[in-house]
Amino acid sequence: MAHNAPFSLPLLNTTRGLGSSNLDDLEKKEKCAVFGIWAGPYAQLSPVHSAYTALYAQQHRGQESAGIATTDGRDGQAGIGGHTGMGLVPEVFTPRVLSALTAGNPVASIGHNRYSTTGASLSTNAQPLVQTTAQGRVAVAHNGNLVNATALRHAFGEKGHIFHTSSDTEVIIHLLAAPQQQQAPDPLAATLRRLQGAYSLVILFEDRIEAARDPWGWRPLVLGEMADGSPVVASETVALDVLGAKLVREVEPGEIITLDDQGVSSRRFAPEAKPSSMCVFEHVYFASPASNVFGQNVQAFREDLGAALWNEDPAMRESPADYVMPMPDSGRSAANGYSRASGIPYREAIVPNRYVGRTFIKPTQHERETAVRLKLNVISELVRGKRVIVVDDSVVRGTTTRLKMRQIYEAGAAEVHLRISCPPIRHPCYFGVDFASRDQLIANGRTVEDIREYLGVDSLHFLSLDGMLACAKHEPGRYCTACWSGDYRIDVEHPTTDRFVEPQQERMFDMAPTPGTNGLGR
Ligand code: SF4
Repeated sequence: MAHNAPFSLPLLNTTRGLGSSNLDDLEKKEKCAVFGIWAGPYAQLSPVHSAYTALYAQQHRGQESAGIATTDGRDGQAGIGGHTGMGLVPEVFTPRVLSALTAGNPVASIGHNRYSTTGASLSTNAQPLVQTTAQGRVAVAHNGNLVNATALRHAFGEKGHIFHTSSDTEVIIHLLAAPQQQQAPDPLAATLRRLQGAYSLVILFEDRIEAARDPWGWRPLVLGEMADGSPVVASETVALDVLGAKLVREVEPGEIITLDDQGVSSRRFAPEAKPSSMCVFEHVYFASPASNVFGQNVQAFREDLGAALWNEDPAMRESPADYVMPMPDSGRSAANGYSRASGIPYREAIVPNRYVGRTFIKPTQHERETAVRLKLNVISELVRGKRVIVVDDSVVRGTTTRLKMRQIYEAGAAEVHLRISCPPIRHPCYFGVDFASRDQLIANGRTVEDIREYLGVDSLHFLSLDGMLACAKHEPGRYCTACWSGDYRIDVEHPTTDRFVEPQQERMFDMAPTPGTNGLGR
């Protein structure tokens, strides 16, 4: 049995991750959520409360800090204000803070939930970032990660620019305010054309909101409409659902959408990259199962991943296990799909403790193991003497997975067969997901058999890349698979501070904006 001698192989570089953060942080950090609403003077709901609700609905995308910025819509008068803080949305936005934000009768707001992918976990890095430029106040909320932020920051630093945060997002404000961009026919478009990497942005000016998505479309961003007609943008459709807003459409890669008193208008700053690069990991793990991401429901996608896992599992066909159980909550949807496709019964034998806080400190190995036991309880009565299939979404560093597998054996399981609903993650992400550095990834330079031995399970199968992409709605080539395949689509090793979009392409869209056209797709 593999679990008789499971915990002596191979030695991993896990010191940094194990020493400092919570259990989930050891595996993968979620990305950020953005939101924006131009409510106008006749809106039925305060834009502050809309932002609060939308951020609450998107809390799964970031739990480190939250923020809302507002404008009263009067150019150069009260300007842009807001509030940011460390913690969860209801912790940051107390009733007192919310009433202070609504006191100025704002007509618009943008919001952000953050989980740092670049920049330290500091209150100064909380977004929206609000800064004053020569053109007025501006607030920026960013989901994604800029590959050339360090190069741009260095170039600005040499010109004497002072940065107030360590976040990559601040370079966007410096670019936007710089004369080179301000003298362009469309300063925001000129700014975006110099960014490399992933960005779904919501930018608040005193008289409008501009929402933009990078030409590759790494991160989701959708346009919606409130019941009173107010336009909204959000990272995920689940935010629209809780607001009672209808989905209008996705913001297209390479598109800027303006929300203001005139309604919604659209313009392009770049053509959609060919091929595009939508992040499959949004479907595998990050997005809410309730959301439609890249035009496809996340829950249904994950169930299909589970069914695809069964289709690739000849060993289980020959000798089926007693039942399929999910690793809560990340493996639940795929376990369901596996069970339905295979006919092997589904049982929930691992119970999560939802009250283990994020600030649980685990300086020693014993305390870390206690934390895993506190967080997950295995029901011995269900697993004792059984051959079980455990389904989870991914294995990143492998350290917490190994502890969880050991718990199942200690509860009396006869055999544990681990099934993972995506391929082995062998490469780091540069586009907004903080897995780990390359040497901390368990799959980096190791075979599946090495990983099985390290995790101490009887058998291990990762869904194949083809199997995963077969579940996706769009053509396989339109998705980013870099963390599995190493195909980064853009040169992450040699970022540049120059314009990124080719000059001949640029001529195509250096046209005047066309206000009032097709923004709501009608
Ligand atoms: S590297 Fe992986 S996590 Fe990062 S954007 Fe690509 S698919 Fe998503």
